[in-house]
Amino acid sequence: GGIADWVARRAARRPGATALVDVATGARHTYAALDTRVSARAAALAGLGVDVGDRVALLGENSGAYLEWLFGAARLGAVAVPVNHRLAPAEVAHVLGDSGATVLVRSTTFAALAEGALAALDGPAPTIVELADEPGVPVSGTVDAYPAAGDDPCVIMYTSGTTGVPKGAVLTHDNMLWNAVNMVTAGPGIGSTDVTIAAAPLFHIGALGLSALPLLYAGGTVVVVPSFDPAAFAALMADEGVTTQFLVPAMWAALTRLPSLPPQPSLRWAISGGAPCPVTVIEHFTALGWTFTEGFGMTELSPAALFLDAADVLAHAGSVGRPFMHVDARLVSESGDEVGVGEVGELVLRGPTVFAGYWNRPEATAEVLRDGWFHSGDLGIRDAEGFVTLVDRKKDMIITGGENVYPVEVEQVLHRHPAVADVAVVGVGDATWGETVLAVVVASGSLDPDEVIAWTRERIAHFKAPRRVEVVDELPRNATGKLLKRVLREQYAGHAE
Ligand code: ATP
Ligand code: MG
Repeated sequence: GGIADWVARRAARRPGATALVDVATGARHTYAALDTRVSARAAALAGLGVDVGDRVALLGENSGAYLEWLFGAARLGAVAVPVNHRLAPAEVAHVLGDSGATVLVRSTTFAALAEGALAALDGPAPTIVELADEPGVPVSGTVDAYPAAGDDPCVIMYTSGTTGVPKGAVLTHDNMLWNAVNMVTAGPGIGSTDVTIAAAPLFHIGALGLSALPLLYAGGTVVVVPSFDPAAFAALMADEGVTTQFLVPAMWAALTRLPSLPPQPSLRWAISGGAPCPVTVIEHFTALGWTFTEGFGMTELSPAALFLDAADVLAHAGSVGRPFMHVDARLVSESGDEVGVGEVGELVLRGPTVFAGYWNRPEATAEVLRDGWFHSGDLGIRDAEGFVTLVDRKKDMIITGGENVYPVEVEQVLHRHPAVADVAVVGVGDATWGETVLAVVVASGSLDPDEVIAWTRERIAHFKAPRRVEVVDELPRNATGKLLKRVLREQYAGHAE
């Protein structure tokens, strides 16, 4: 009966084990308590008329209650819709309207955002529910758990919107189950003694699919923090005895810049994913003796898809590894044929973690689910042992003077320049070359653009090196630290020289 049963079964087996730690409130819930609280959330939703298949939107910073509502919706057979709280009111309204949510569970922090969204909404307004408990008021109520089938929708998770408008990916209970199985069977594995912190936002698939859900499936402990502060996070890791930790690369990179990192004797497995991890960051943690691994995932894949074991992480640095246990992956040409070793192809994937389709977007779904494979839009190459290295997104590839340039490759080189703190490489339109390579950098100390260009040319082909370097204070990134290259392309359009 779906993900809500995971909690019920763990509660039956080891009721006293710690399931959830909510750092903001200080609450620590056992599996028995979590199970009761999930039922109470389900009962509250049922009381508002929420039924099987109805959508329940969630708008809040990470919290224990956030996960309880998500599981509570699942216990009713309803579908949770996590909403990005960094969106503008009109964009939240779009998600509410697009998903047709009948209830919006929101935290007090985002009361004004929720109101603004409702004001901007065309259709019927969802009922608003307070996300957090009133202090002192016990949560109670029970429901008959809905026996969800494997292919029933579990969540509608909106994509990050890196390349365009976020699309609602329908993820089923089986998608979540097989993703959890992929995680517990990868690397050092995940079991009932594991502890993790859900630190990346739960409204993206990373923290949900790589932290919270696999740990709760395995009977481990999920510590939830409302926001990410590098120093506080590092201290919390040590205090809670974190064993398994997923973060996006920008968060790992922030930890490398701390003046000192508390020792992490319990840590068995560090995982980076969601965007390319600078090799310098991998090297930093590997030098500390950590089992640091990189994975590749996508919302549409629930999200774990490819994974690089710690044993391979230095020898194959820059690669995202090989498929998880229950994922088939291939690199194909435009015509759909598998490309050879060392040739660039589009990464396509198959298996039980591939989503059911985009909510209300049959054409977009048909575009990506073709010939029995999910087409990722990411380009990669593989070596003879099957290690895949992503070269870039199809949409980000630069064609300059007829040569293909993969910005990620250029960024990896620029990250090694001592004066470069952060960098994004994009193509800008150029009358002579079609496009030229532009590097937008955040400098650490003084930076001479011409020197950076010359330095890069000593390390990679001239046509790949930037023709122009722009220094900025900050790069446009979304909540999980992904570079918003479409924003840079718009900003620098027509500025090739
Ligand atoms: P949208 O689909 O709305 O444009 P998005 O693709 O960024 O946004 P997500 O599903 O959150 O939304 O991210 C998946 C993408 O993130 C992948 O397609 C890939 O481009 C990138 N990605 C994920 N993991 C890695 C990794 N380890 N290295 C490089 N890129 C990665
Ligand atoms: Mg995408």
